[in-house]
Amino acid sequence: MVRHGNGIDKMELRKTFQFEAAHRLPTLPPGHNCHRRHGHSFQVELVIEGPVDAHFGWVMDYAEIKQIFRPFWEQLDHNYLNEIKGLENPTSENISKWIWEQVKPQLPLLKEVVVAETCTARCVYRGS
Ligand SMILES: [Zn+2]
Repeated sequence: MVRHGNGIDKMELRKTFQFEAAHRLPTLPPGHNCHRRHGHSFQVELVIEGPVDAHFGWVMDYAEIKQIFRPFWEQLDHNYLNEIKGLENPTSENISKWIWEQVKPQLPLLKEVVVAETCTARCVYRGS
């Protein structure tokens, strides 16, 4: 929690989503196991940062974040990511950036997109 000169608290929200999808990484050599088609239970975290509304006592409604992400989640879930425009090489890095570009125009407070394809490996994109 950061208190600014104007007395408004700035806070961060983190909303997590999961989707199941297949992909392959076509630029890798055929001997690499990611060259073959396989699946993951991907985890996505959308991080929002903004001032806490004095009346509502929140930065924004988590349900609104869910509603904004829903159409993109539907494109990703139970699909073959390589077939989605812009995800021909669906690394975690490219998925993070793709999500950022879809969501940011509707969610200006978006600060970070985190994509994890396993429990131990995750990628963070902050828009640059
Ligand atoms: Zn993979």
